[in-house]
Amino acid sequence: MNHVRVRDDECKGCAVCVSVCPKGCLAMSGKLNTMGYEYVHFFHEEACTACGLCFLSCPEPSALTVLAEQEVE
Ligand code: SF4
Ligand code: SF4
Repeated sequence: MNHVRVRDDECKGCAVCVSVCPKGCLAMSGKLNTMGYEYVHFFHEEACTACGLCFLSCPEPSALTVLAEQEVE
């Protein structure tokens, strides 16, 4: 399955990725990172198409990494 890796401490909690995901795979986690921001959570693995919209819309370059099925360890 495809996967989106979230680096919790890089996320600024803007929720842009949540709003752009066409499959509803991302949600705010309800937890704060070490910077005090509520970070995002990837939870709907079976629906993710690895389209990359979340990565492309995220203002933080290293917060999200989209791993297509063959790249998931
Ligand atoms: S890669 Fe596409 S489908 Fe998967 S979480 Fe990101 S926006 Fe959603
Ligand atoms: S778009 Fe980036 S910074 Fe904003 S909530 Fe999503 S992962 Fe965090």
